[in-house]
Amino acid sequence: MTASVVSKQKSKLMSIRKGMLWLAVIGAFLIGIRHLLPGEAGSGGSFDAFCPFGAIESMWIYVTTRQTLLTTNLLNFAIMSGVLAVSFIGGRAFCGWMCPLGAVQEGLARLARRLGWEKCRVRSRQANVQFPMHLPDWADRWLRFAKYLILVCVLFASVFAVYPPLQAFCPARAVFSFKLSSGLLWSVLITFMVTSLAVERVWCKYLCPLGATLAIFNKLSPVRMHADFDTCNHCGRCDSECSMGIQDVPDNLSSAECIRCLECLEACAHEDALTLRVFKTYKVLRKYLN
Ligand code: SF4
Ligand code: SF4
Repeated sequence: MTASVVSKQKSKLMSIRKGMLWLAVIGAFLIGIRHLLPGEAGSGGSFDAFCPFGAIESMWIYVTTRQTLLTTNLLNFAIMSGVLAVSFIGGRAFCGWMCPLGAVQEGLARLARRLGWEKCRVRSRQANVQFPMHLPDWADRWLRFAKYLILVCVLFASVFAVYPPLQAFCPARAVFSFKLSSGLLWSVLITFMVTSLAVERVWCKYLCPLGATLAIFNKLSPVRMHADFDTCNHCGRCDSECSMGIQDVPDNLSSAECIRCLECLEACAHEDALTLRVFKTYKVLRKYLN
């Protein structure tokens, strides 16, 4: 297979991924608009009822009382089942291919690059800072634990909660619901926008408890990336394209941080240095994208 055929296949894959992210964003805005219509919250669920994480927030109360937290219902569990099915097959692929918040973050990072902020000079330090930027390694390493801590706190709070514990801070509500009913939600919206311009996929990397929940599936899923170290020349292109800031990508393809966006596959110029495989043996790209 020639290099141009390989690169065409990869670009097709990227188009599919971007198309799916656009659909996720449009779907989330439609749910937000629907929720504004009179009487809609009462007929089929509130905005929160479409959130997969609502199922995790309601899990305790549902197991113990067969009730759900206010503003969530069984639709949350149905949507979470779909997300789990995707995760069993493709790890955190939901984050990279289907999450509307992930799509907005990618869009904002692209906007920062388009605005030329990549070569922004911070005078006080006399250093070139690239936006979206990478945090220092020590801060990055510690902050990545924050999403697991948030998950534990939410699970603990859900035992005593009446409403979903994350509801008041939820960036999905802030971005898509068109109902910024509190100053706190406005703060979340502004913080989410500004930090997403400054740091690529900042919410996915550091704060998202749904991403933390799905991370374990990166170790279990049959569809995953594979590196061929006979072909890879450690050029580092995949590292620089990784939106999750994973270092030494070929060595860390099962990282809990990987959202299976396949940008590394797209960036790699060496045929078969990186491949998407089922059970390490079967190449998905070659089979399905001719
Ligand atoms: S871009 Fe390809 S060749 Fe370069 S380090 Fe990554 S996998 Fe190896
Ligand atoms: S390692 Fe590759 S697939 Fe995983 S997040 Fe980084 S660029 Fe995406």
